[in-house]
Amino acid sequence: MFKLKEVRLCPYCLGSLVGANLTWIPNYVKGATLHNLLQLNEGCEICNDLLPSTFDDLVEKALKSLEGLEFYTVKAGVVLPPWLVEKEDRLRAKYNPPHMVSVKLTLIKWADLVLSARTGREVSKDPDVEVLLDFETKSIGLRIKPVFVYGRYRKLKRGLSQSRSICPYCGGKGCEKCNWTGRIAEGSVEGAIGEVMREFFEAEDYVLHASGREDVDARMLGNGRPFVMEVKRPRVRRVDLKRLEDEINRRSSGEVEVLNLRYADRSEVRKIKEMSDKIRKRYRAHVEVEEGKVSPEDLKKLEEFFRDRVIYQRTPKRVLWRRADIVRRKKVYWLKAKMVDERHFELEIECDGGLYVKELISGDDGRTTPSVSEVLGRKSFCKELDVLEVVG
Ligand SMILES: [Zn+2]
Ligand SMILES: [Zn+2]
Repeated sequence: MFKLKEVRLCPYCLGSLVGANLTWIPNYVKGATLHNLLQLNEGCEICNDLLPSTFDDLVEKALKSLEGLEFYTVKAGVVLPPWLVEKEDRLRAKYNPPHMVSVKLTLIKWADLVLSARTGREVSKDPDVEVLLDFETKSIGLRIKPVFVYGRYRKLKRGLSQSRSICPYCGGKGCEKCNWTGRIAEGSVEGAIGEVMREFFEAEDYVLHASGREDVDARMLGNGRPFVMEVKRPRVRRVDLKRLEDEINRRSSGEVEVLNLRYADRSEVRKIKEMSDKIRKRYRAHVEVEEGKVSPEDLKKLEEFFRDRVIYQRTPKRVLWRRADIVRRKKVYWLKAKMVDERHFELEIECDGGLYVKELISGDDGRTTPSVSEVLGRKSFCKELDVLEVVG
């Protein structure tokens, strides 16, 4: 047993000591009241008075760094020096105080209350901004929640990659040339959409999460491909999405188009990625036959053969470097063939997402079977490919 009078503690540490009593009163308030009542002096046994001498300063610093930032919910986080936590543990071991809660928790709850009162924002478990009060370095940090924007994109020009490439000047570390993002925005769908979003949200960076991807040389037409853009460390959280959409489309006119922009959350990132392999896609392919000719009968044979046909596809050679070598079982639902000339024809194909269409045509040296080449008995390959529709 111990007597309160025997320990010398500051209001924060004293509040922690009696924290499990009268839980509706903030620990700090209990501590400050007791501290007064007991007429305690300075020289806290746990924190050496670090907490009373630093807390208000850190809160003021935090409020300053929150200026000009748009946020609706807030939460405090606390970092304590290891020596303080050790002293707290020692006192606990010595007296075994029955109502003690951790000093860290006391600080977090009090900081939540003070920050919420001073900013007029609500405290949330998943806040727009988490304010880190670091009592070790006597500095503060802000963890700003990303903004997520859902939409669909159309890619009208061949030769654009889906994601940005690594900056050749800094190798991804970030430099002036790449706006400190480590990535080059030009020539990618991600960059075309993300750069405008970065401006609108006054953000530091962005990541495109899309439902699958088309090849660099394929267009993405129809109603577009679903995506969620993660806008990182935004200073603005609410923008006019219609204006944003118009601005992206104006700047990337003829190359990239977005539609149906709306706000989303993190859970949708996983959802659209999982969805990619489950939904059907419709493609248009221009095919060339390497030797010999094709006849209308050949094309008819193709249409008949590829009706609800199961395809076994080993990971194509061209993506082996980044994908595991497995056999995928995918379905072609239907295929329509149109003659262009003796050596060229056009295919419209509806199939499962995740089927590699170029290899469905070439056969990929037997890795994809059956294939168009196999059924024709002549080597053929895909000269041009467009995604016409992503269903769903
Ligand atoms: Zn203390
Ligand atoms: Zn760079």
